[in-house]
Amino acid sequence: MHQTHKAIGILGGTFDPIHHGHLRMALELYETLDLAKVHIVPTYKPLYRKQPVASPSQRLEMVKCAVSDEPALVADDREILRKGPTYSIDTLLELRAEMPDTPLCLLVGIDAFLGFSSWHRWKEILECAHLIVAHRPHYHLPHTGIIAELIHERLQKEISFIHENLSGGILLRPITALEISATDIRKQIALGRNPRYLLPDSVYDYIKKNGTYSIS
Ligand code: ATP
Repeated sequence: MHQTHKAIGILGGTFDPIHHGHLRMALELYETLDLAKVHIVPTYKPLYRKQPVASPSQRLEMVKCAVSDEPALVADDREILRKGPTYSIDTLLELRAEMPDTPLCLLVGIDAFLGFSSWHRWKEILECAHLIVAHRPHYHLPHTGIIAELIHERLQKEISFIHENLSGGILLRPITALEISATDIRKQIALGRNPRYLLPDSVYDYIKKNGTYSIS
């Protein structure tokens, strides 16, 4: 099957705040996989983890600040506007309805991928999109269990697979290891330290202006 459109990437997350780890992952996968765009989609209300500190609109604003001068990346507000609990499958089904001929690639860090089989309707996610798993340091793939089976059944070596098929493949891609975490950035800001160079200046300026993460 040959598609008429290049694949797009979708990077979901809390982005509390967005930082250079997220942005390098998005840009490197955009370039190495020859994606048309990468949509960065902040979650309204994550289901599988602690609730974010910044509000949904603040997290969306920070993503907008981060991508404003990078045409490869798009701040996608659909989950924030949809409200309610956020399920990736709903976002992918919405994108599929908007772009019936465009392969969709869900970009996930390897930590997120290891818990993939507990995601809501995870089998349907693979009917809607490819999974691109970015290697980060200190993580190893399991040799047994559902994730090992998924890799065995669906792993693709050729990038052309994701442009020629709408969904269903898994690709493992190395990315530059940047051991930056949003949790650590929030802690540094709360302690009055300077998190500069871990995240874009525009995002840090937004945080300073709005007092996000500061202990008052
Ligand atoms: P927290 O520290 O609050 O848990 P986080 O940055 O790890 O935040 P998210 O904002 O939800 O978490 O991450 C969104 C996506 O980005 C996930 O797929 C995650 O694996 C990936 N990711 C997070 N940090 C990095 C990093 N430093 N390098 C590459 N990918 C990352």
